Amino acid sequence: DSFSSFPMREELKQALADLGFETPTPIQQKVIPYLLSEPKDIIGLAQTGTGKTAAYGLPLLHHTDVNIKSVQCLVLSPTRELCMQIQTEMQKYGSQMRGLRIAAVYGGVPIMGQIRDVRANPQVIVATPGRLIDLLERKAISLESLQYVVLDEADEMLNMGFREDIELILKNTPAEKKTWLFSATMSNDVRNIAKRFMKEWQEFSV
Ligand code: AMP
Repeated sequence: DSFSSFPMREELKQALADLGFETPTPIQQKVIPYLLSEPKDIIGLAQTGTGKTAAYGLPLLHHTDVNIKSVQCLVLSPTRELCMQIQTEMQKYGSQMRGLRIAAVYGGVPIMGQIRDVRANPQVIVATPGRLIDLLERKAISLESLQYVVLDEADEMLNMGFREDIELILKNTPAEKKTWLFSATMSNDVRNIAKRFMKEWQEFSV
């Protein structure tokens, strides 16, 4: 199968063609058609290098309404490096979507520039948990209109001690949003987060 056979917005297909992406990776093959159709909760077990960012990033962008100037998608990731990488990659996929804004917020740098970025009405925010909480406490971000949350490298985030931060963030998101959890491993901690914050979910692994 190829990306052109997916029922996905043309702007995304165009961007993928420009990037020279032709064949979906195994995790993309399984997850993308599922996430394009009906909004559902999923757990994806996949390592870095498998193409997992596009596996959730393309469906997220497919469902994003660029005419709505509020945060619709949140991606949580364990490190600043990964945050920046996800933002860069999603910006490439969304390069043909006029009006799309993707903000990245992470610790270790001054918060003022990020406050400006999140006030510029991004539809997508990529964040590390600690900095996101800081911005929520300052009321710089509202998650009221959130429709999708991605927990990327969930096992890493839990290993790094972000469990309470993740719980606090998820408690402050709308009940009807969908949760897409990605992890290299299915640890007990990962399972516990899923049981507490997700409804019925489908599992995919590669
Ligand atoms: P990830 O596992 O998400 O970190 O992706 C690994 C790398 O593979 C990234 O640099 C992507 O740009 C690239 N990539 C992801 N999906 C594809 C694909 N279907 N075809 C070619 N390259 C891809």
